[in-house]
Amino acid sequence: MALIVQKFGGTSVATTDRIKNVAKRVARWKKEGHDIIVVPSAMSGETNRLIGLAKEISATPDPRELDVIASTGEQVTIGLLSMALHEEGLKAKSYTGPQVRVLTDSTFTKARILQIDDDKIRKDLADDYVVVVAGFQGADEDGNITTLGRGGSDTSAVALAAALNADECQIYTDVDGVYTTDPRVVPEARKLDTITFEEMLEMASLGSKVLQIRSVEFAGKYKVKLRVLSSFQDEGEGTLITVEEEKQMEQPIISGIAFNRDEAKLTVLGVPDRPGIAYQILGPIADANIDVDMIIQNLGHDGSTDFSFTVTRGDYNKALKILNESAGKLNARGVVGDNKMCKVSAVGVGMRSHPGVASKMFGVLAAEGINIQMISTSEIKISVVIEEKYLELAVRVLHKTFGLDQAD
Ligand code: ADP
Ligand code: ASP
Ligand code: MG
Repeated sequence: MALIVQKFGGTSVATTDRIKNVAKRVARWKKEGHDIIVVPSAMSGETNRLIGLAKEISATPDPRELDVIASTGEQVTIGLLSMALHEEGLKAKSYTGPQVRVLTDSTFTKARILQIDDDKIRKDLADDYVVVVAGFQGADEDGNITTLGRGGSDTSAVALAAALNADECQIYTDVDGVYTTDPRVVPEARKLDTITFEEMLEMASLGSKVLQIRSVEFAGKYKVKLRVLSSFQDEGEGTLITVEEEKQMEQPIISGIAFNRDEAKLTVLGVPDRPGIAYQILGPIADANIDVDMIIQNLGHDGSTDFSFTVTRGDYNKALKILNESAGKLNARGVVGDNKMCKVSAVGVGMRSHPGVASKMFGVLAAEGINIQMISTSEIKISVVIEEKYLELAVRVLHKTFGLDQAD
């Protein structure tokens, strides 16, 4: 007998029929004698709808109130799923995040989990209940409702698994595991039996949203056994996220290609090349709470530099306005930008021991006539920023070049 946390994503609970199917799957595990905690997301599209309603009232909704609204999607699915479990003849009880007491900090819309009370859940499990806990939400010290950032139910599930010392955390979704790249973009993508935490963390933070980044961080930190599986198939082992040593000896250099469309690039042209310029440009951007990703600075022959960086598209207009305001003070020649950029990355722990990956990557992109505008590397990844119109082409050729296509 094991203690298992099962998380079901939005598409898996999109209709009442699908919720009934989820209940049937949970019932099978329960009847095998396992203790089960289920964490559903909101029905697919529901969180977007709720945020949309808030934006109809206010262009810049108050974050506290936004969380009050956005968290309700999961309150619906926990109730429905508990009822569906009753119909399967099981004892089941639902809790919202605040009811469990998933304690978070007060960063509304992207709160961090600080602690989880396990008393009620443990008592219910001992009384043979399936415990259904709302994903994506918690409450801060003062009882304010908080949400954990988009895709946050993954993190709720992993945090519960860590708090209760579960034997496994299963993330059920609409694909049957983690693939070498998004199978919706490259049909030749291959399902991975295992992927290391480190690689999964890079993939997630570089745009593969099959798992929320924080859930992977949490699982790595608390040694939670984490598996991604399909909620639409009965068979299959899915993908197990592992520590590096557990991977097979003979591993590919590149494990996957990640991409992110949500990229915009801004350039301050011809600023004087002197100490403090980066601070002067990025200081006001940071003060406006805008996250900067890649940064590049090119020295021209006249002693001036072009300073470029990327932000998410949602922050593009705000960042452009700030730069235009500071351009005069900086003595810059001008500000230009493009919000139709994307980032494509090759990820693999094998890169550590194999030089030449970057040049191979740049070579194939050049052969396709794709201009690389920015580059960033770490020990296990290489990312390039390119125009969005080349995204599919770049992902496909890189996937093939690094031997990831199914046929290879
Ligand atoms: P859920 O609603 O179940 O949380 P998500 O939409 O958040 O599901 O995540 C699943 C989706 O992630 C898949 O439908 C797939 O399009 C996308 N995805 C992106 N990259 C990958 C990848 N490398 N492997 C598998 N799926 C991926
Ligand atoms: N319902 C939330 C969202 O759409 C959380 C989740 O699905 O994980 O972002
Ligand atoms: Mg998700």
